[in-house]
Amino acid sequence: MTRYGEAVRVLDPAVAGLVRDVPDFPTPGILFKDITPLLGDAAAWRHTVDVFAQVVEEFAPTHAVGIEARGFVLAAPIAYRLGIGFVPVRKPGKLPHATTGVGYDLEYGSDGLEVHLDAFGPGDRVVVVDDVLATGGTAAAASELVARTGAGVVGAGFLIELDALAGRSRLPDHPVVSLLRY
Ligand code: AMP
Repeated sequence: MTRYGEAVRVLDPAVAGLVRDVPDFPTPGILFKDITPLLGDAAAWRHTVDVFAQVVEEFAPTHAVGIEARGFVLAAPIAYRLGIGFVPVRKPGKLPHATTGVGYDLEYGSDGLEVHLDAFGPGDRVVVVDDVLATGGTAAAASELVARTGAGVVGAGFLIELDALAGRSRLPDHPVVSLLRY
């Protein structure tokens, strides 16, 4: 038995209580949304994946992209649940085969992302998945990478969206869904 019962397309509000706010991490002024308590709670974690998968299924994706590293944790079980492919978008230098890459700005600092050039085929429908949508720079970079490979980005899904940072405005070309908004 789970505490949450059948998935019903809306995240149980109790799950939000398992997201821990950590002030000043990794740098002063950042309120870090720590999802590890949620991941460690079997019922909440299963419920979260079930609801997340149901929500992004509406995009009829053929692949879920997970953004390193916490995006992997969400995108992989969603892909498994939906019976679609999982594709990692990784930090520079981590993927072994031919890649395309892009640099982007973060809420704290800057970084880069890469994807395998042959990860998708024409006509593939990709949903980009990550844990937190903050400024949107990371997800926009991932969407750009997917588009460069010739696949279509049909949506983006986040466990948490930080409304004040307006990340959604960086993703104007496809639907954006999030399960918890702050
Ligand atoms: P952004 O590019 O600004 O939308 O930042 C999103 C990425 O940074 C995601 O991969 C998140 O894991 C991480 N991130 C940004 N801000 C936070 C935050 N306040 N708490 C936890 N993770 C964050």
